[in-house]
Amino acid sequence: MPQYPAAIDRLMQELMRLPGVGPKTAERYVFSLLRMPKDRLHELGGAVEHLKDSILSCQRCHNFDDQSPCHICRDSKRDQHLLCVVTEAPDLAAIEHTGVFHGLYHVLGGTVNVIEGQGPERLHIEDLIKRVETEKIQEVVLATNPDIEGETTALYLKKALAPTNVKMTQLARGMPTGGDVTYLDEATLTEALNHRQSA
Ligand SMILES: [Zn+2]
Repeated sequence: MPQYPAAIDRLMQELMRLPGVGPKTAERYVFSLLRMPKDRLHELGGAVEHLKDSILSCQRCHNFDDQSPCHICRDSKRDQHLLCVVTEAPDLAAIEHTGVFHGLYHVLGGTVNVIEGQGPERLHIEDLIKRVETEKIQEVVLATNPDIEGETTALYLKKALAPTNVKMTQLARGMPTGGDVTYLDEATLTEALNHRQSA
């Protein structure tokens, strides 16, 4: 990496903490920021600084919202016995966008990744089991990504939830392998939800 003044270097280091941002991308971002007017940078800085001021993690489903319980958990018109498990909040947003799912959600907050030593203990699995039991959930839809991490996570969930005897389904495997729930086109995701298979 070329030697840059400290301020550029510092921002690059910060940006590289984001998923998918390596030195090249960070460099591109910093130099496009440098071309922006100062008041735009102020806007951006302010948005970052205050991001967590009003955003809460829902105590029930771990979705991000400006209230807890979140607007989905508070919606009594939704099916209270149907629960869709997603790995991250953007997956929830993608499924909501299709408009075909009318149950509740549970956001795990990540995946099980054996290779990188990320075990299931840091995920919201304990309270998922508790929810299935206390909220009398009738079906759990496992909406993990169709990749190795997603499959490993689904497998772990199946084992963890087995003692509850809850019906488990998984998104139809018409999804492209290695795809990502968040970035699937709406038609494919709708199909995958409508034709979910027993897990
Ligand atoms: Zn919620």
